[in-house]
Amino acid sequence: MSEKTVVFVDRYSATGTPRPNPRTVCKGRCEGMGCYPDMKPGVSAADTPFVKCERCGGTGKEPVVRSSSAK
Ligand SMILES: [Zn+2]
Repeated sequence: MSEKTVVFVDRYSATGTPRPNPRTVCKGRCEGMGCYPDMKPGVSAADTPFVKCERCGGTGKEPVVRSSSAK
């Protein structure tokens, strides 16, 4: 009687991270998470450290591009 229930959980709800706004979400490796697993060959997923996204600096939001001619 063991009926398997497959519940699809995406990475956002799995980690409790609010879904990012597609207009402001970081387009770097973090995909809006602010950090991403630094996967290396030979390292298991459980031992893979999360590193801060260099693009957004951990905010998960796409950095605001300012005009270089401003100011
Ligand atoms: Zn990022």
